[in-house]
Amino acid sequence: MEEFIAQGNDEHPGVIPHRTTPGWIEVIAGSMFSGKSEELIRRLRRAKIARQRVQVFKPLIDTRYSHDHIVSHSEMRHESGVVERASEILKQVRADTDVVGIDEGQFFDNDLVAVANELAQRGVRVIVAGLDQDYTGKPFEPMPQLLAVAEYITKTHAICVRCGQPANYSQRTVEVEGQVVVGASDAYEARCRRCFVPHADEPTRYDEE
Ligand code: ADP
Ligand code: ZN
Repeated sequence: MEEFIAQGNDEHPGVIPHRTTPGWIEVIAGSMFSGKSEELIRRLRRAKIARQRVQVFKPLIDTRYSHDHIVSHSEMRHESGVVERASEILKQVRADTDVVGIDEGQFFDNDLVAVANELAQRGVRVIVAGLDQDYTGKPFEPMPQLLAVAEYITKTHAICVRCGQPANYSQRTVEVEGQVVVGASDAYEARCRRCFVPHADEPTRYDEE
């Protein structure tokens, strides 16, 4: 299945092995709580069942729940490496890896686009999950660029906690400035277009039963 087109072997290290079959890029994008991590983990588990070699990476900034796993809000988990910069992913991907999963793509630098392209060019299936918009509703780089170059795109939706419609926005519920404020239900909630306001807003209150 694999072939060292570039004649790379142990005696001539540094030559990147290519497979005969092309790779591709899949992007899973949506708001917070929309199931991006769950969907990424589901795809990675299926690949492993099919005995494919899988490597997973997340950015150093996101060690909220674990240093060596990606973890969904529903507590699904999958082991992962942590990297500071996108270029480190290229250094860490092994020559025989079939599938590379990347979570929280929006927290990486713009090199992630070149890294994903390079891996796909080598024949790797690359799956990137990430927020497509920040808490003000602006496209969250580098996800928009990844969406442009990806072969396959999945848009996931949460449920608006105000009205129950499909939610496409991550509403910040604490008064903190800055595009990157790492948090979960303590700082964000899912909202639809109508219920979203592009700045920090009061958290939704639930009536006591
Ligand atoms: P993401 O990676 O997109 O932030 P996760 O995969 O980590 O999402 O978590 C999805 C899970 O979040 C759901 O299965 C559900 O258990 C939980 N969840 C919390 N709030 C919501 C909401 N408003 N709508 C849908 N799911 C929610
Ligand atoms: Zn709503």
